[in-house]
Amino acid sequence: MRNKTEAFSLVKMYISPTGMKRILTLSITVLLVFTLGHLASSHFTTKAEKALIFGTSVLAVVCVFYFEKRIFGKNKTGETLPDNWQAFISEKNCYYRNLNQDDKETFKDKMSGFLNTTKITGIDTIVHPEDRLLIASFAVIPILKVDWNYQNLHEILLYPNSFDSDFNTSHFAGDSPEILGMVGEGSLENTMIISKPDLWRFSWDGASPHNVVIHECAHLIDKFDGQTDGDPILLFDAKTKKGWDLQVSKISEEMRRKETIIDPYALENNAEFFAVISEHFFMAPNSLAQHYPELYKLLKLMYGQDPKAILSSERH
Ligand SMILES: [Zn+2]
Repeated sequence: MRNKTEAFSLVKMYISPTGMKRILTLSITVLLVFTLGHLASSHFTTKAEKALIFGTSVLAVVCVFYFEKRIFGKNKTGETLPDNWQAFISEKNCYYRNLNQDDKETFKDKMSGFLNTTKITGIDTIVHPEDRLLIASFAVIPILKVDWNYQNLHEILLYPNSFDSDFNTSHFAGDSPEILGMVGEGSLENTMIISKPDLWRFSWDGASPHNVVIHECAHLIDKFDGQTDGDPILLFDAKTKKGWDLQVSKISEEMRRKETIIDPYALENNAEFFAVISEHFFMAPNSLAQHYPELYKLLKLMYGQDPKAILSSERH
């Protein structure tokens, strides 16, 4: 436990829905092990025999904790990145390219952990190693300084195109909107869908604040507590929560009155506001910092990163 923030995020991890499941599983197993131990000890009379039963029970509980961590934990290592990963990511991902050496190491570990625990499946399309690397490298950006690795994501479905609300990719029904990516609910819980052409449509030119993976990952960060409501408690402390609520109402109100630099899709609801603003923060930090310095400062505290400084050597 290095500092207070780390302790806080650990507490928050255990109060999340996944954390609750972990606590429940552990409690039931510990209770079961000790009940069985107690029943068994009534058949033995000597101190040595009782000590043996007690020792076995403690060992069983330690094993349960160890394997529970392996089953539920997502910080597994083992995914071997292909030899060319660094050259490829340095070329495609401006963000990674400009990180300092320590952050590059963290980035690599998180990318590896992400790929090791997230299945990526192509639907009517082939998933190339470059697709996997690109997805992971974008997913890591928002959580680089957050002690968390998308425990609420198990699988990504890569679609051959954007899609409509019935998941049709070629023939949009009526005038239903085109969807580039989504975080699933219900039967698609813990699943993300990404349109492959839109995965590759990104630019750090300062004028295109869009990145479908970062957008959907922001929804997952928001959904840390089981609710996609634009209240990303994973990133909050008492001060930032208050500031965030204030900024959301102030900027939404301004956006309703006039055109701004922020994608109007942010007005859809508070969850979209958070996702759109997060995309903008990482992809076009200069314009956000210039037009909304207070919001930028707040996001810097929430994400623990300063994209404007990181991308400062890039020519826009
Ligand atoms: Zn969205």
